Amino acid sequence: MSAIKEPSFRESVDLMFNRAVALMDLPPGLEEKIRVCNATYTVRFGVRLRGQIQTFTGYRSVHSEHMEPVKGGIRFAPSVNQNEVEALAALMTYKCALVEAPFGGSKGGLCIDPRKYDEHELERITRRFAYELAKRDLIHPSQNVPAPDMGTGEREMAWIADQYARMNTTDINARACVTGKPLNSGGISGRVEATGRGVQYALQEFFRDARDVEKAGLDGTLDGKRVIVQGLGNVGYHAAKFLSDEDGCKVVGIIERDGALFNEDGIDVDAVQQWLAKHGGVSGYPDATYTREGGKILEEACDILIPAALEGVINMENAARIQAPLIIEAANGPVTAGADEILRKKGTVIIPDMYANAGGVTVSYFEWVKNLSHIRFGRMQRRQEESRHQLVVDELEKISAALGTQYSLTDSFKQKYLRGAGELELVRSGLDDTMRIAYQSMRDVWHDRADVEDLRTAAYLVSIDKVASSYRAKGL
Ligand code: NAD
Repeated sequence: MSAIKEPSFRESVDLMFNRAVALMDLPPGLEEKIRVCNATYTVRFGVRLRGQIQTFTGYRSVHSEHMEPVKGGIRFAPSVNQNEVEALAALMTYKCALVEAPFGGSKGGLCIDPRKYDEHELERITRRFAYELAKRDLIHPSQNVPAPDMGTGEREMAWIADQYARMNTTDINARACVTGKPLNSGGISGRVEATGRGVQYALQEFFRDARDVEKAGLDGTLDGKRVIVQGLGNVGYHAAKFLSDEDGCKVVGIIERDGALFNEDGIDVDAVQQWLAKHGGVSGYPDATYTREGGKILEEACDILIPAALEGVINMENAARIQAPLIIEAANGPVTAGADEILRKKGTVIIPDMYANAGGVTVSYFEWVKNLSHIRFGRMQRRQEESRHQLVVDELEKISAALGTQYSLTDSFKQKYLRGAGELELVRSGLDDTMRIAYQSMRDVWHDRADVEDLRTAAYLVSIDKVASSYRAKGL
């Protein structure tokens, strides 16, 4: 690629796709069939607010229907546009294929700054948007299942689910029309933090292979690694929190809308999140140095850089100055195709978005299955598992007493062993397994093929191959 003009988000995704398909042997025409976005629906609707009608523009894009339903989040942001929604929908296709979630790719967006509306107004706008989409089967348990994305969360998903149920009063599977719902509206334990948790599991798997760690010029484990995170929202907060609380990472930089915080000794992620919620920004936070020019902190020295806010933040302008040897794309599209080329030449290792943030759609898949099966995971097995474990513990204790040995099972072992898995444990186990297997499939391609120099190309190869097989099986 000639590094002259910064490609748009949509162009970046296509350029990265093209780089990968050039290494594949797809039948003529199939490559284009996979790349193009099947359809994008634009809707403009009015809502009477504050005494006047306000018109909103929203999109729902369906990239690939090789599997149905199609799946992808709904974003609320003033910058939402067709190009962005289509790029995000394409990424969803590749992401679902990579982690073997049985969905095609879709995405939605509404041009709105949600911070400018109160809760009641947002509910009316969201319900109206959901009505417009549901009316055209662009929200539907077996055809198109949205989820949260930037600017939306459990609350909006609950409104969407309720709106769909009101419009489809006899649909017993109505709850499966959207994922990321609160637990009391058909949600699943562990969905809120799933994407951040997935980022943590992805890094854990990366650090399990010393060859990969060495490729990034790092060594050892996650313990003590210096992390900079951009965006302390759903994804960034949970990723930073789990990595610092559970893996011994040190979060030295946090970048938000209004600037960034830096402290070489580490920053308390929870304290900053509470500050952010209270003050609407990070400025004024007492235990770190504040810089108004947040973007500069992306360029600071650290071991792991986690862009978890929005696309295009690492671009041709700043790529050469990025010092982190390892970038994990928690956000969608944070590195442009131009920057990707510069970073690859520098030897920076990038764990690509389509894999890195797939934890959300993975747990959404579990939620959808839960909704369709109408039963919480673990409800049937948990106590049975516990009583079988109790039998083993009782027997071991009897043997130990009979032999008169000093050995007895410790209380902490018994506590852990006797506890049957509830929904949260099962969700975490399923997510960890998914993230490990998907990483291993990319890693194999990365290591085995001399013509594949980066994880992103490996990820595209694995996922395009799966999408292609699915089209071939359909006889297309
Ligand atoms: P969010 O709205 O919860 O958080 C985004 C955060 O980024 C907010 O704290 C916001 O203040 C901050 N931010 C916005 N603009 C910024 C800027 N210019 N500089 C620094 N910070 C900025 O959104 P989210 O759900 O965490 O999504 C973040 C990214 O992760 C998006 O790219 C989204 O597509 C992707 N993603 C989200 C999920 C999910 O489950 N929520 C799943 C997969 C991918």
